[in-house]
Amino acid sequence: MRERLAKLLPISFRGRLALSFGTMTLVLGILVYGYVGHVYRAQLLVDRGEALHDLATAAATVLAENLHERQREIELLAATPLYRRSALDSPDLRRSLERLQHAYPAYSWIGVTDAGGVVRSATGGLLAGVDVSQRPWFINGRDAPFMGDLHDAMLLAKVLPDTGDKAPPRFLDIAAPIRDERGALRGVLGAHIHWNWASDVVGVLNPLLAVQKQRELFIADHNGQVIYPSAGARAATLPPLTTAVLDTQSRFTAALWEPDAEYVSAAVALPAEFTSALGWRIVVRQPLHVALQDVVALQRVLAVFALAIITVFLALIWWSATRISRPLEQLAGLAMRIENGEENTPLEVEARSVEVRHLIEALRSMASRLIERREALRDSNARLEHTVAARTAELEIANEELQRIARHDALTSLPNRRAVDERLHEEFIRMRRMRRPLAVLLCDIDHFKRINDTYGHALGDEVLCHVARTLQRSLRESDFIARYGGEEFIALLPATSAEEARHVADKLRRSVETHPHPLAGRVTLSIGFAVADGRHEHDKQAVREADDQLYAAKREGRNRVCGDDRGGEWPSADAHRQLHSAQ
Ligand code: GH3
Ligand code: MG
Ligand code: MG
Repeated sequence: MRERLAKLLPISFRGRLALSFGTMTLVLGILVYGYVGHVYRAQLLVDRGEALHDLATAAATVLAENLHERQREIELLAATPLYRRSALDSPDLRRSLERLQHAYPAYSWIGVTDAGGVVRSATGGLLAGVDVSQRPWFINGRDAPFMGDLHDAMLLAKVLPDTGDKAPPRFLDIAAPIRDERGALRGVLGAHIHWNWASDVVGVLNPLLAVQKQRELFIADHNGQVIYPSAGARAATLPPLTTAVLDTQSRFTAALWEPDAEYVSAAVALPAEFTSALGWRIVVRQPLHVALQDVVALQRVLAVFALAIITVFLALIWWSATRISRPLEQLAGLAMRIENGEENTPLEVEARSVEVRHLIEALRSMASRLIERREALRDSNARLEHTVAARTAELEIANEELQRIARHDALTSLPNRRAVDERLHEEFIRMRRMRRPLAVLLCDIDHFKRINDTYGHALGDEVLCHVARTLQRSLRESDFIARYGGEEFIALLPATSAEEARHVADKLRRSVETHPHPLAGRVTLSIGFAVADGRHEHDKQAVREADDQLYAAKREGRNRVCGDDRGGEWPSADAHRQLHSAQ
């Protein structure tokens, strides 16, 4: 896995540097982007919640003050002399009720009951004479000014003109006791405020609930039931408010009603000093996505900004990576050239960092040491070659000397027996090829033992040397003379017939005889010769024949030459073939 990953990664130093820093920048950018977005979102949530809370507070204040005003209005009216003194069904009192309704059309009905709960006077004459003694407003209104919670129309529903609403009209009841001069209860002044009143009052806040902000305002009663907007119109889309709790910490709550839909909400209770008995709450909410619209916008701006910054950073990182890695790349190139044998490559690299400068120095000294060592090696090789050549030459000379020593007799310096064997073989082959006879002369000093015996071995040696020199001088350059053993010598005369051989042998014999040794005196030779020719199959044959002739010469009295004069014959080609097949 790691290997596969390593294969995917760039191999150059510059690439790896850029990739590491680029990844870090990207991660950092994403983290900053995420963090800023998160912080801004949280702050915006608080701001939006506070704004909703302010709105709810304003709505609560407006509603409470208006209600309070209505209550004071009824209370003050009940305390006026007209109500305290005149008959409860007097036209003046009726006009006063009509005026009030005209001044404030939200009053659907205003009426006066007597102390028994029978309506004595009312706007539009509605419910006149009807017993309302069981109605809460009458019961409570007898003792003190009263404000009743919202309720569906009971008696009035049948008598009020039809407004076209499907749902039954709903009213708020306000009542105040009417007392006479002595304080005794005369009756109760009651008013029903049509619930449309709430829309009129809250309507002043409409600009703040602007459609695009999608803020919604609700009024919930003390049970948490939504009473505004009217349940009939909104019941389908708005579930009952059951958890409208004011968050005292942040003064707003999120997702207040609907767990599925996300909202920012704020709930405020109606100010207690005016209408505590009602226990209403004003709730304002706004969909979370609308409240946080600015976050999305900011995130977009932030993303573009972060992208731009990251791009600039990546370019900077690439530029820095190039700057940092360039000397190393140059150095690597130079190192490869040195490795390929170009040790003299000048190490000129523009380096600012200390480490790279140290690296260059190290490479430089390595290269120069390499050159020195190579030169030293070359010198030592040359010396070695020279020494080897000299030793080889010496060895060749020594070998030649050895060859010479191995093939020469130490005493007479003539070729020895081994040299004779080799030369005989060569000359025999040449004889057969050239068809020219080869004469073999075997020479033996006569009575040499006597010389030894007479003059001693050392002089015997001198005599041997003397004879050898004499023989050598008497022969041609092309002839071969060697010591064959003891006091015997052998001469090989190429291209020499029997007749010529006899002549040469005799010349040799005479030469030795006529050159006496200064101390030992006259020395004689006996010579036997034979001629190797077409008849001979083996080189030693002629030597044996010559030896036989030498014996003959000894037998016949010494100091003479014996040999077969028939030598130098070659059989015809047919005879030659017959000779071979016979063998
Ligand atoms: P003949 O005439 O029959 O050849 O008689 P000879 O005495 O020459 O022959 P023989 O074979 O009886 O003796 C050869 C002698 O040569 C014997 C040996 O001591 C002597 N001799 C052989 N080699 C050397 C040598 O290198 N130095 C000396 N001083 N004497 C040698
Ligand atoms: Mg002998
Ligand atoms: Mg002899």
